[in-house]
Amino acid sequence: MIEMMEELQQLLFIGLEPLQYYLDPQKRIYWVYLLSSVVIALVLALTRRENIPRQLVKALSWKLWFHPSSRIDFYWFFLNHILRIVLVVPVLGGGVALAITINRILYRWFGAGDFWQLPELTVTILFTLVLFLVEDFSRFFVHYLYHKIPLLWRFHAIHHSAIILTPMTLYRIHWAEMLVNSIRSLLVIAFVSAMFIYLFDNDIHLYTVFGATITAFLFNIAGSNLRHSSVWLGFGYLERWVVSPAQHQIHHSVSPEHIDKNFGATLAVWDRLFGSLMMSKNTTVKGYGLANKTVEQRFLSQQGGL
Ligand SMILES: [Zn+2]
Ligand SMILES: [Zn+2]
Repeated sequence: MIEMMEELQQLLFIGLEPLQYYLDPQKRIYWVYLLSSVVIALVLALTRRENIPRQLVKALSWKLWFHPSSRIDFYWFFLNHILRIVLVVPVLGGGVALAITINRILYRWFGAGDFWQLPELTVTILFTLVLFLVEDFSRFFVHYLYHKIPLLWRFHAIHHSAIILTPMTLYRIHWAEMLVNSIRSLLVIAFVSAMFIYLFDNDIHLYTVFGATITAFLFNIAGSNLRHSSVWLGFGYLERWVVSPAQHQIHHSVSPEHIDKNFGATLAVWDRLFGSLMMSKNTTVKGYGLANKTVEQRFLSQQGGL
């Protein structure tokens, strides 16, 4: 009986763990990042002379956060969290083993490494930047494939079936997509780490702020949560380099001219290279969701993809 109680307690603890995302600087919905997005939205509303009380009522409305579409965001959020604990966390150590294996292969093929010994800060900055670039490109490319390969689109369509965007829509991804993304991330970290360990006679560290890499911190503090919201924020000419919230809203748009635009996560340069960049100036988004399909907002019927 006591054992059963303990197991139940453990299950409850795992179930409630996602609430800690709001306290974790490594998560996009960390309260500081949410707050910074609210501040940016308020400043925008002020400069656009919008009716702020009306905007606030709209942003906090029950209809927005408990809309059937928004509720599904939460269901996926909890399901993916539990599946990540069960399926991904146990294989995280595999990333270290993979990095060691790649490192050994490099030694065998190209001889002894440790070519450079640079000041630790230089290597840390270099490692942080290279990891960010490879990570960002791999995200872009996998996202691109999700849209181009019908079998993958089936799963990614879950993210696009949201007709209301809130910061929680980030977590509305099918578990198959979550698993693919976790493997992608593991491979990128293992590969870049192995290369750096091979090339440099230094300890390898990331440049972090409150435990988050500085690139993720800057990206998130600059209003990343507005991407999944109805606050229209473009970056003007800078959108050729960095993806703005408005550009991601274009990615979610139902309008035919917006389909397959702006796959980028942080940098817009990949979209430029692949011809899928669309800037937010001179365009408006009429609605979010799948362009040619009305989707029933029912969580259970989405398990096999769309
Ligand atoms: Zn997409
Ligand atoms: Zn999205």
